[in-house]
Amino acid sequence: GDELVAAVHRLITHADEVRRLGVRTNADTADDAARARRFGAEGIGLCRTEHMFLGERREAVERLILADNDGDRDAALAELEPLQRGDFLELLAAMDGQPVTIRLIDPPLHEFLPSMEDLAVKVALARERGEDPGHDAALLAAVERLHEENPMLGLRGVRLGLVIPGLFAMQVRAIASAAVELKQQGKHPQPEIMIPLVGAVQELHLARDEVERVIAELGVEWDIPIGTMIELPRAAVIADQIAEAADFFSFGTNDLTQTTWGFSRDDVEGAFFSRYLEKGIFAVSPFESIDREGVGALVRTGVDRGRATKPDLKLGICGEHGGDPDSIHFFHDAGLDYVSCSPFRIPVARLEAGRATLD
Ligand code: PEP
Ligand code: MG
Repeated sequence: GDELVAAVHRLITHADEVRRLGVRTNADTADDAARARRFGAEGIGLCRTEHMFLGERREAVERLILADNDGDRDAALAELEPLQRGDFLELLAAMDGQPVTIRLIDPPLHEFLPSMEDLAVKVALARERGEDPGHDAALLAAVERLHEENPMLGLRGVRLGLVIPGLFAMQVRAIASAAVELKQQGKHPQPEIMIPLVGAVQELHLARDEVERVIAELGVEWDIPIGTMIELPRAAVIADQIAEAADFFSFGTNDLTQTTWGFSRDDVEGAFFSRYLEKGIFAVSPFESIDREGVGALVRTGVDRGRATKPDLKLGICGEHGGDPDSIHFFHDAGLDYVSCSPFRIPVARLEAGRATLD
């Protein structure tokens, strides 16, 4: 046992000496971040912030989304901001001295809305009893207005940030003020702010302007990199334009695979892909291992066009493929700077990144 552990340790140490790819982790909590650090992570490549809006904060989020006036909206945001600040203080402290890419909120909206069916039943029952459904009726009308047949192709990511005034600004204030506080304590926080699901450069410009405005208002005296996910085919194709407004790209190969193939990432296994695999039509799912001909070609396009605009553009990948050995070889060849994967996959990612160099 001990000898094997020592041998693996030597192997990974050797891989670290030769690898060109950095290895970061996907982590949303200080616990995950600390675990990833023990596995050798060199930063966080993706902190998904949407989970921070669930649980007991859900009610404030519901009020935020359903608000029909500035006062209600601002009140909900004011409730959420100190909680977010606490989230980022913990996370940045756990990763002190290493880059932490924090992605602004990217939920499919339906995850935050009360169930339309439940509300409809409540309203109908109240009416049957001859009671006034009051608040529930108003809520139902709002939920119906926001209902989407395909939430994963709807009001997500940057779209949500542009449609709900103050939402991105609240998160950015929480991130930047947490970093300022840690600096005052003599620590070395390195937040990076990432805008999700950008498909048009106009979206990125608007979001970036807002992020920069908030950072300037707080009087932050150092640069906080602002970048974007490349996770829609259109973003890869116009990466030359997008690079003008981005300090870094991170390829979101989960959504990029979903949108390139037109497969729902949540349904494809059950819907038909397991039978494709059984019949031998494909040997592996494109969600597991990078599809070099399609999704991979878009990644290469994004790399080439992005770097044509900005030769020193920092490039990473934070989709699930970032922890897949075969995909890691592809990302090395494509010229990315780092992969980001879940904490437990980090040792294997370090090893494969080393093997990719030797190959
Ligand atoms: C992606 O789309 O690859 C990604 C990393 O973002 P998410 O999985 O959160 O959509
Ligand atoms: Mg995504």
